Amino acid sequence: MDQVALYRKYRPHNFVNLVGQDYIKTTLVNAIKSNHISHAYLFSGPRGTGKTSTARLVAKALSCSDLQDDHDPCNECEFCTDINDGRLIDLIEIDAASNRGIDEVRDLKEKINFAPTRAKYKVYIIDEVHMMTKEAFNALLKTLEEPPPHAYFILATTEIHKIPETIISRCQRFDFRRISRKALMTRLSYIAQMEKITADDKALEAISKHSDGGLRDAIGLLEQMTTDGKLEYEKVRDVLGVSDSNLLDGLMDTLSKRDTKGALKIVHELHDQGSDMKRFIHEFVENLRGRLLESVANDDKGKMATLIRMIDVFQEASNELHMASIPQLPLEMAIIKISGPVVAQQDIPEPVVEKKTEAKPEIKPEATAVQKPESTPEKREHKAIDTGAIMFTIASVKDNWPRITERIKSPSLRISLKSGTPVKLERNDLTIQFGTNFHKDKVMEHDHRVEVEAVIKEVTGKPVKMLVVVKELEIKPVVEEEKVVIPAKEESKVDEALGIFGGEVMD
Ligand SMILES: [Zn+2]
Repeated sequence: MDQVALYRKYRPHNFVNLVGQDYIKTTLVNAIKSNHISHAYLFSGPRGTGKTSTARLVAKALSCSDLQDDHDPCNECEFCTDINDGRLIDLIEIDAASNRGIDEVRDLKEKINFAPTRAKYKVYIIDEVHMMTKEAFNALLKTLEEPPPHAYFILATTEIHKIPETIISRCQRFDFRRISRKALMTRLSYIAQMEKITADDKALEAISKHSDGGLRDAIGLLEQMTTDGKLEYEKVRDVLGVSDSNLLDGLMDTLSKRDTKGALKIVHELHDQGSDMKRFIHEFVENLRGRLLESVANDDKGKMATLIRMIDVFQEASNELHMASIPQLPLEMAIIKISGPVVAQQDIPEPVVEKKTEAKPEIKPEATAVQKPESTPEKREHKAIDTGAIMFTIASVKDNWPRITERIKSPSLRISLKSGTPVKLERNDLTIQFGTNFHKDKVMEHDHRVEVEAVIKEVTGKPVKMLVVVKELEIKPVVEEEKVVIPAKEESKVDEALGIFGGEVMD
């Protein structure tokens, strides 16, 4: 069966049925209504987002002899039907990626001056225009400089950066966006309904997600995976290698309960299923991202900090996958970092009573907050400790790390600092671990260091001296029966353990 049959069948035949791209649709409709159609359009955007379909609609609107509401092609006149059947001689579609396309562009310059054969206008649609040779671009440029009144051009590309500026500046440009999942879903269920396909919503959702905003791919997948008039989630999942949504939800659920064992069980299940770890982590991070954006919308700072940390940790796991000798290890490490049982027990913060102050039962938040760092730039807020006095432990520094990094003004320093993890706090010496020397060196430049230390003081209320280490790539197991083992004289391992579990050395 022809895989694109459904796509062709449901290609929009008028502007009303064009999916997504509302801004482009409105602008073009207005241009058609007011008879201000540009002689050269440039449509850029990802594949399957409607560029060619829209180009054909413009061509039809230019040719139709019975426009509806002054803008929509009638689909009944000879010109409309010929375009729908792909046989109107005055609509010249060129695929610049093909060999024939190169010749066609070459001829274009000579033939363009001939009047249209049947329709009012000649319309050239040049697809994948970025594939043209330099010579072809030059030929096209000459034509675009002075197009004959009967000629219209619509250029389409997925790679706008490859189009010479001289061409871009002669066209009216429209950037097609990826089509939203919701719009894809709606279109797919419409098609399924029309085709009498029984499709469960989960299956349609999985296809929409997988198609990454491209309608053509989405419809192609729908067609490919429908058997006996049925589209089932299990099949979609298997064919696309989509991660089992139950396991994704399960991981979120166990992590939020700090149920490390439960979360690790999910990894084992994934492994047993032969699932693609990379894909799973990707989908999990995507899930976290959704929640993060939601927490930003709700201004839920606590949640934001947690999610940022989770995204960092799982992204790191994803990056480490290709080097991992045991494929499930990075994911397991990430899970333990986030919800490790050791942390759960040791992480209970103890109130810190400063030695010099008398231990009063209630410590007023301002008492710690007011200690202004000497070099605080005027604009910083001084209500840094809005949650009250912060316990000064490595765990508290870690929990506040997003707040600390957020306050760094220079973006590049912020990125470098964000890549670091606080791993040790000994009296006022705070050790930050970095993945690369580059970030470490950046943070340790004199001015940067002063700024970072000031910000840490601002947030935690404590002066610190910052020390740095670069993380060793090798990861050795340091857990034995849920205890952190601290071998004597092996500080780097201690650091590593602390880095993983966010704990402190206890006597
Ligand atoms: Zn018509």
